[in-house]
Amino acid sequence: MPRYDFRCRSCGATFELSRPMAQANDPAVCPEGHQDTVKLLSTVAVTGAAGATGAAPQPASGGGCCGGGCCG
Ligand SMILES: [Zn+2]
Repeated sequence: MPRYDFRCRSCGATFELSRPMAQANDPAVCPEGHQDTVKLLSTVAVTGAAGATGAAPQPASGGGCCGGGCCG
């Protein structure tokens, strides 16, 4: 079940809710009981761009051939 980040505009608290995607846009209530909340963008989208540079070399060098030096 995906998790969604919300921020309360009444007290400024941020909180996380796990809910079905069908309810992603439903209003969320702050843990303090406030109803003036906004849904934040997923952190997955933010880290995706930065992780692309670090993740690329791993599958390229993961083969068994180059490990033995036959490709060098
Ligand atoms: Zn609040």
